[in-house]
This record gives sequence, structure tokens and C-alpha cells, in this order.
Amino acid sequence: RAKSLGKGKYQVFTPKMYEKAHQLLKIETDLHRAIKEKELTVYYQPIVNLTTGNIVGFEALVRWLHPQKGLIPPGSFLPVAEEAGLICSIGSLVMEEACHQLAQWQKQGFDSLKIAINLAAQQLSQTDLITEIDCILTKNQIHPTAIKLEITESSMMQDLQSTKLLIQQLQERGIQLSIDDFGTGYSSLSQVQNVPVNTLKIDRCFIKQLNQTSKNPGLVPVILSIAKVMNMDVVAEGIETTEQLSQLRELDCHFGQGFLFSKPVNAEEASKLLRQNPRW
Ligand code: C2E
Ligand code: MG
Ligand code: MG
Ligand code: MG
Repeated sequence: RAKSLGKGKYQVFTPKMYEKAHQLLKIETDLHRAIKEKELTVYYQPIVNLTTGNIVGFEALVRWLHPQKGLIPPGSFLPVAEEAGLICSIGSLVMEEACHQLAQWQKQGFDSLKIAINLAAQQLSQTDLITEIDCILTKNQIHPTAIKLEITESSMMQDLQSTKLLIQQLQERGIQLSIDDFGTGYSSLSQVQNVPVNTLKIDRCFIKQLNQTSKNPGLVPVILSIAKVMNMDVVAEGIETTEQLSQLRELDCHFGQGFLFSKPVNAEEASKLLRQNPRW
């Protein structure tokens, strides 16, 4: 931008940039309060076994219930949280709440239910992450195999060595691992092959390509074959239409989530869904 003004003309800090910086600082201050005042909460989106139509688990997705602005989606505050070094605290809060909720559901008899929790890149190098997870699981009497941690392909590749070590520790405990947003990062297949993960989550952009008009399913069958060879489960993200669902069933994709089934909902509504047992 500044360069386009021509040689010798520098624009260092415009009022607009000032405004932007001011806004970010405001969000940061707000976030500190949000964490302290427990304004952050967890929403749950069902993960469905596409063969039986049953809910097999939920993905925990953080929300900010802002006293003035209402419900704020993670995309609007997680990047700031990352910059401000707050992402690990938020990660802990989400894990605490999601595991507490899972324990409630298990006590209600939904004992095979799983919970998927997203890990931010910075959490992968958080030295006490494993201790923290152990502690939360013990406190809530949750078996390690009931939780699944989601790491995006791009954060996994940021520091592959330390990620591998962490993954090894998780696998030793029986904690499952998913690669989130698979197909959108920059990992090579040989790298993915060397990381012991259980599940690939096919990014929404590939599911979008499945539709009535074009019978060409794009890369979805390719990703499904890769997963099969690597002995991994697959979850299709962002299923919005019945056409997409039936194509995925034809392609023998076993798991999915998306607005077609349900948007992410609060714990109470998620409990309702479980009791209703919709069998999609
Ligand atoms: P993600 O982990 O890939 O989560 C799936 C996102 O896709 C969610 O957005 C969900 O609401 C959305 N989604 C699900 N089904 C559909 C659909 O059918 N259509 C469309 N258009 N969208 C769908 P959300 O909740 O806004 O989260 C966005 C991202 O923020 C997540 O992507 C994840 O990367 C991150 N995130 C959310 N919660 C957490 C958290 O607790 N910790 C960390 N580190 N990241 C989180
Ligand atoms: Mg995820
Ligand atoms: Mg995803
Ligand atoms: Mg995503």
C-alpha cells in the first residue's frame, strides 16, 4: 500500500491503521475480561455415523457470549487470542468444559459418546499440555479413548518434530487424533503417512464440490482412498445438502458433520438432540 504512493513517499501510520490497532487492543482487553468472567462457552456439533445415522460424538467449538455484542464466532477472536498469548488459556477452558459435559452425558447413559476438541498450534508446544489433559480426564473420570484431539494440517506441519513427540504421548494414552481441514494445508503425503493419526477430516471446500449439477465428485474419492490405505477413519466436514450426503454414502464415507444434521448448539440443545436420537 505504502509503496504504491511512489518513491520517497512513506505512509507510516494512517488514521485507519490507528483505528484498526485500537480495535484489536480493545478486543484483547475484552478477551482478558471474557476469560476472567467466564464469558467463553462451548457449543457442540454432532458427528454422525453416515451408515447408521446415529450421533457418535460432538465437536466442541468455542463461542464468546459477549455481554453487549452477543454470540461471537471463534474466527473473530481466536486470531487475536493467538497474538495476545491467550490461546492456551482458552484451550484449557474449552477442554475443561467439554470434558465436564461429556462426563454428564456419559452419566446419563450415552457411554460410547466421543468428544472432539480442537488444539491450536501454540498448544502443541505448551509444555504442560499432557499433564493438563491427564488432570482434566482424571478429574472428570473420562477414559482417554473418549476424547479426540483435532490438529489442523497446517499447525501440525509448523513444528513436526515436537508435534510427533506430543502425538506419541497422546497415542500411548489411547487419546485419538484427527487431522482437521485435511487437504488445505501444505503437508506432503509422506509427512502425513509418518504421523500416527486416527482420522482425517475432509475440509468443507471438498464437500462443496459434491452436488447435483456436476456428477464429478472432485477430490473426495481420492482422499477416501488415501485414508483407506493409511487405515484412517474419515469425517466429511460441512455437509449441507441431502445430495452431498447421498453421494458421500455412495462413496462409502463413514462419518460426517454439517448444517444438514445440525449447526453447533449449546449443551442443552445438544442433550435434546441426543435424547431425540434423530437417526439421519
Ligand atoms: P473447524 O475445527 O474446522 O470446525 C468446523 C467449523 O465449520 C465450525 O465453525 C462449524 O460451525 C463450521 N461448520 C460445520 N458444519 C458446517 C456446514 O455445514 N457449513 C458451513 N458453512 N460451516 C459449517 P466455527 O465454530 O466458527 O469454528 C471455526 C474454526 O475455529 C474451527 O474450524 C476451528 O479451527 C476453530 N475453533 C473453534 N473452536 C475452537 C477451540 O475451542 N479451539 C481452537 N484452537 N480452535 C477452535
Ligand atoms: Mg475442528
Ligand atoms: Mg475443520
Ligand atoms: Mg475449518
